[in-house]
Amino acid sequence: MKKAVKFGGSSLATAEQMKKVAKIIRDDDSRRYVVPSAPGRRYSDDAKVTDLLYQCYDAAMRGEDIEGRIAAIKARYDEIIGGLGLDLDLSDEFALMQDLFMRKAGRDYAASRGEYLNGIILAKYLDYRFIDAAEVILFDEKGVFDSENTNDLLRRRLENLDRVVVPGFYGAMPDGSIKTFSRGGSDITGSIIARAVRADVYENWTDVSGMLTSDPHIVDNPEPIETITYRELRELAYMGATVMHEDAIFPVRREGIPINIRNTNRPQDPGTMIVESTCRQPKHLITGVAGKKGFCSINIEKEMMNSEIGFGRRVLQVIEENGISFEHTPSGIDTFSILVHQSEFAEKEQSVIAGLHRAVNPSSIDLESDLALIAIVGRGMKAAKGTAGRLFSALALANINIKMIDQGSSELNIIIGVRNDDFEAAIRAIYAVFIESDM
Ligand code: ASP
Repeated sequence: MKKAVKFGGSSLATAEQMKKVAKIIRDDDSRRYVVPSAPGRRYSDDAKVTDLLYQCYDAAMRGEDIEGRIAAIKARYDEIIGGLGLDLDLSDEFALMQDLFMRKAGRDYAASRGEYLNGIILAKYLDYRFIDAAEVILFDEKGVFDSENTNDLLRRRLENLDRVVVPGFYGAMPDGSIKTFSRGGSDITGSIIARAVRADVYENWTDVSGMLTSDPHIVDNPEPIETITYRELRELAYMGATVMHEDAIFPVRREGIPINIRNTNRPQDPGTMIVESTCRQPKHLITGVAGKKGFCSINIEKEMMNSEIGFGRRVLQVIEENGISFEHTPSGIDTFSILVHQSEFAEKEQSVIAGLHRAVNPSSIDLESDLALIAIVGRGMKAAKGTAGRLFSALALANINIKMIDQGSSELNIIIGVRNDDFEAAIRAIYAVFIESDM
C-alpha cells in the first residue's frame, strides 16, 4: 500500500502542528510521499507565510528595504526549527532569497519559498529525502502545467525512492524560472504526486474532519460526509462548498485514485472519501446541500412564443454576445427566463435588454434580482420517490417561496431558486428534513 499525503498550512504552522504531522506519517508506514504547504495561520488573525512573502516581494519591487520583513519570515521558520529541536540553519537560504528578491526573481519565486523552506524542515524532521518541486513539476513556456511530461519525469524520479518530501504549490518553466499554481495549489501537487506513484489513496490533511453536508456558517455543526463521488463534489463545489483546490481532482481522478480528506487535529476521524463511484449507500437521501446568493432572472414574455422556432437560440445568442454565462433557463409556454450572475450581468443589463428586443421582439422583459440558488445533491436521490415532495413541503412549512425549480437529467441534483433573504432559512429547512431528522 502506498499513500501520497498532503498537509495544509494550518497543519504545519507551528512546531506542535509539525509534530502531529510527523506522528500521523509515522503511524502508517504507507505514508511515503509527503507534500507540505507553507506555514499557515497560528491563530485566527495571524498571517500566512505565503502572504508575507508576497508582501515582502512587493515591497522590494517598490524599492523599500526588506530586511525587517525577511527577518520576520525567518523568525516564523526559526520558531518551528527550534520547537522541533532540529540542527538546521536556514540563514544561507534566506540570504539568497533576499538577494533574489532584490534582483526581481518574480512574485512566483517569492511565494514558492514558503513551501520550499517548509519542505526542507519537514524532510529533515522525518528523515525523508527532499526533492525540490522545481526539478519535477513542469510548466510549459506559456506557464501552463505540463501534466504528461511531469508525470513521466516524476514516475522515473520516484521509482526507486521510498520516502520523499516534495514541496507543494510550485514547479518550474522550461527556462528554469519558478511558476506557482493558483492559491491553494499545494493540493494540486499532492494529486500529481499521487498519480505519478500510483498511490492507493491521496490523503489531504487539513483542519476539518472532511467535507460537511452543509455550510457551518448557516447550520450548527453539520454532519461530515462519509463518501462522496467526484460528480457530487463538483455539484457542491460549484455552489461554493469547497474543501480543496478544484484542479486537484483531475490528476487522481484519471487514475481512479480516491481522495481522503482528513483532520490533522483529529486523526482518529475517518474524514471524507472522494471516489469515482461507489456502491456504498449514502447515509442520507442527500449527500449535501449548498447554495449561492446573487443571481438575477431575466424574464421574457411573448405571446405565441411556443410556436416561434429558434426563439431560445436567439435569446441565448444575445446572452453569448454580451459575454455572459447563464446558469439555468426555466421556461413556460409563453415565457422564457435566464438566470445569470447578478455581478456579471449588472453592467451589461441595458445592452442585453436592447439586444433581446432586437432579436426576439418580446411583449415584455422583466428583471428579478437578489435571487439565491440552492443545490440539493445526492447520488441516493436517483429513483428515490418523494424527494421533491419532502423538499417542497419543508420549504412551504418554513414559509419560503420557491422561485425556480430545476432537476438535472442525472437526478443527481435538484436546484431551487429562492429570494436572497430566504437563503439561510431555506438551507436550514432542507438540512433539517433530509439530514437532521434522518439520523
Ligand atoms: N501556500 C499557498 C497558499 O497559501 C499554497 C497552498 O497552501 O496550497 O495559497
